[in-house]
Amino acid sequence: MWKACRDKLPTNHRLKIRKVLTKDSCPFCGRCESSGHILWDCKLASEVWFESNLSFPNLPIPQREFIDIVWFLRETQKVVDWDLFAITAWSLWNNRNAMKHEGRCKSAKQIV
Ligand SMILES: [Zn+2]
Repeated sequence: MWKACRDKLPTNHRLKIRKVLTKDSCPFCGRCESSGHILWDCKLASEVWFESNLSFPNLPIPQREFIDIVWFLRETQKVVDWDLFAITAWSLWNNRNAMKHEGRCKSAKQIV
């Protein structure tokens, strides 16, 4: 969570900025893979959050950084199960790594 909130995860967006990669595309949908995208905005991430027991509102615009999502939830939600939130985000990141490095991934229902 610290890495996600500090935008230190080695997302394709961060790796492109550091000139490690030439493309920043998401392994699932092809859009720019920022921390906000892969852990929240991506279609698979949206399905996982929908399937989780956490009921969150949709954010009005796509978020580049994960910390903006955390702040939004902190400001708008009365109660957030932050442990479950962190576990779900960690599972999304693990699933992304399995897809990127091993070519396999789980469905939203398998992740939750
Ligand atoms: Zn995506």
